[in-house]
Amino acid sequence: MTTIGVLAVQGDFAEHRSVLQGLGVNVVEVRKPEHLDGLDGLIIPGGESTAISRVARAGGLLEPLRQFVRETPTWGTCAGAIMLAKEIEGETPHLAAMDIRVVRNAFGAQIDSFTADLDVAGLEGGPLHAVFIRAPIIASAGPGVDVLARLDDGRIVAVRQGRLLATSFHPELTPDPRLHAYFADMARQAR
Ligand code: GLN
Repeated sequence: MTTIGVLAVQGDFAEHRSVLQGLGVNVVEVRKPEHLDGLDGLIIPGGESTAISRVARAGGLLEPLRQFVRETPTWGTCAGAIMLAKEIEGETPHLAAMDIRVVRNAFGAQIDSFTADLDVAGLEGGPLHAVFIRAPIIASAGPGVDVLARLDDGRIVAVRQGRLLATSFHPELTPDPRLHAYFADMARQAR
């Protein structure tokens, strides 16, 4: 059975857990370094990247996470995508694993939240309804990074670089489990 961890220090980890469990995936909430042992993959949820980073560092989890994401499939959603980025505009990176540059809160104060229907490369069954909440934009992606989805205006909102996946939006907040199934396949295949 595939076991996927959900980083559970801050943010909407419970929603990710229930989508994964609905897919029959075994889920571990990751709060301590030893919870990373034996996982086939990890989801870093949305929330506040500064808070996730601070709490993880305080719990001695930041260094083990840095190691983990270099070896094992990891998916960052929203704040989680910020955690994975090698470059964050105006800030020091956290896990610095993916060749992407992100801009936090890129959609401005008055448009804090919106939805969009996205064509996602590799997902069958039509567009994915995506929820954006104080979302980052992926301003640029390196040559080894595949762009999986863009907004109508061309801005990048989903990318994959080998074992790593990052989305600006929150697939755990809609009833459509396709992206979680996609990531569970990534984890299974890497095992
Ligand atoms: N604005 C948050 C950050 O910068 C991300 C928002 C989210 O995860 N929904 O970390």
